[in-house]
Amino acid sequence: MQDNFSDGPNNSKSAVQNNLKQLDLQFSKYEEVLSLLHNCSLCGSQLEFVYTIELPGSLIREEAKCNHCEIRIRDKLFNIQ
Ligand SMILES: [Zn+2]
Repeated sequence: MQDNFSDGPNNSKSAVQNNLKQLDLQFSKYEEVLSLLHNCSLCGSQLEFVYTIELPGSLIREEAKCNHCEIRIRDKLFNIQ
C-alpha cells in the first residue's frame, strides 16, 4: 500500500531545486548585508560579537561592539524557535 509514496513524481524534485536556487540568491544578498553589519560604522574595524543564551533553546542575545571605539553597536534578541 505504501508503494504509492516511494515512486513519487520526479518533477517535484526540480521544483525543490528551483526553490533552493532562489534561496541561494537570497542568501548571498543576506551575506552582503551581514558583511556590512559586521564592521563598525564609525571606524570600519571588525565588530566583536558576543552571544548570550537568554532562554535555552529559544532566545539568544547578540551584542556587537567595537573595541576600537569602545561602543556597543548592537544589542538584539533572536528567537530561534
Ligand atoms: Zn569603531
